[in-house]
Amino acid sequence: MPGRLEHKVALITGAGSGIGLESAILFAQEGASVLMTDINLKAAEKGAALIATKIPNAKVVTLRTDVGKEEDIKAAVDKAVKEFGRLDVMFNNAGIMHPADDNALNTEERIWDLTMQINLKGVWWGCKYAILAMRENPTDASKGLHTGGSIINTASFVALMGAATPQLAYTASKGGVLAMTRELAMVHAREGIRVNSICPGPLKTPLLMDFLNTAEKRDRRMVHLPMGRFGEAIEVAKGALFLASDDSSYMTGTDFKVDGGLTSAYVTPL
Ligand code: NAD
Repeated sequence: MPGRLEHKVALITGAGSGIGLESAILFAQEGASVLMTDINLKAAEKGAALIATKIPNAKVVTLRTDVGKEEDIKAAVDKAVKEFGRLDVMFNNAGIMHPADDNALNTEERIWDLTMQINLKGVWWGCKYAILAMRENPTDASKGLHTGGSIINTASFVALMGAATPQLAYTASKGGVLAMTRELAMVHAREGIRVNSICPGPLKTPLLMDFLNTAEKRDRRMVHLPMGRFGEAIEVAKGALFLASDDSSYMTGTDFKVDGGLTSAYVTPL
């Protein structure tokens, strides 16, 4: 059985951990050639080595990329095209949640700027260079390859609902990702470039668990989770795989929620 990403080329940012790592594994299993990028090159390399043990013929390369730097993102897209000849899937996934991010009164401007630089500008640049590359994709109808592609931008459930445990810069940056994604989806729809957001709920990844480092902090959130548990990175990666593949060929501009029902909750089950 051919994989769902057979012959496709994917670039994933923040691929050294959490959602990015699980997506790299899944995409490679489904036949994609994958460029795993991360600001932490060692983590990306460790992930690539893990994939090599799981999938002997996997086509995976790594690159140190700081999504807060436009030249790094351009270099990453150039590498994907040079290595594999095209770019079909751009997963703008890297993001930070700074421990000093707080409410309107306590958040320092440098924390605001850093968060926007990585979470919002990084996604903009990822989209920009992906679009330029996807326009140039060679076509090969026999392999189902065409110009265009699928861009997936990681937002968050906090872009859809307010929290009384504020992280103002993070929330605003993710709201920006949703708004930007919708507009890009419209502008590039006729070029066969689909642009969707994925909105994870709270997950058991280092990003959140390093922050929720006490039972009190975890319990404060847990009561609001309809399924009574935090999500797993692999559960979001499966959503990303759907958006990356042609299975979602009539989807663009969507806020794709993988949140265990959180954003539909008023009260949750006892
Ligand atoms: P994670 O901390 O497990 O992984 C994030 C990866 O991004 C790390 O490998 C890190 O090195 C990398 N990274 C950080 N800054 C970078 C930069 N400037 N350039 C390139 N790479 C960088 O986190 P995760 O939970 O997998 O989060 C992935 C995405 O999902 C983020 O955008 C995050 O905001 C979003 N998200 C996470 C949750 C959650 O609960 N974990 C919920 C909603 C949204």
